[in-house]
Amino acid sequence: MMNFLTKIACSSNLFKLNNLSPYSSALVKSIVTTNVYYCEAHENQEAEKEQIKEKIDPSIDRTKIIPVETSIRYLKSAAYKETYGDQAVWIPYRRNHKGLIPPRKTRKTCIRKGKIATGSPCPICRDEYLVLHHENTDLLKQFISPQTGQVLSFSKTGLCQKKHLQLLLAVERAKDHGRIVYDVPQRDYSEYYEQYANKSS
Ligand SMILES: [Zn+2]
Repeated sequence: MMNFLTKIACSSNLFKLNNLSPYSSALVKSIVTTNVYYCEAHENQEAEKEQIKEKIDPSIDRTKIIPVETSIRYLKSAAYKETYGDQAVWIPYRRNHKGLIPPRKTRKTCIRKGKIATGSPCPICRDEYLVLHHENTDLLKQFISPQTGQVLSFSKTGLCQKKHLQLLLAVERAKDHGRIVYDVPQRDYSEYYEQYANKSS
């Protein structure tokens, strides 16, 4: 409760002394003194938070947002070739799990509070320059089966659930924008329309 009051008092000037009735002067004094105390405490907390932010290891820091254009250029670069070669990004990845049988689902997410929270992050989370976006078709095509045209399962690619959902959305959006070509399923209308029945015969 006091924290809530302090936040209000710190952020805005809701506690105006003139607006309060004279009978509550003692109360006002106590509120003002506690406010000063809590404001100082609040500022100290913020300073501590900033210090913690600076301490994050850059290799696991995922707070920086990489634009799609950078990711598209990265996929065509020599650095990418050297890392992955000609194979898809998920092929060299191996899931790390307890026991012999892998869990049915992959983990919910690899990134918590802006940094990598696991020892074996999924193929998308581990490389911050791989951005799932409908314009980044070179990356999306690596996750589409050449036989069926469907998006590969997370049990095959090892993507965490969060990234898999982002992948599904990006692929659908790319199809809507016409960036990924796909076959429309063939449907038989002959039992509903005579004109189709004549054509087939
Ligand atoms: Zn992940």
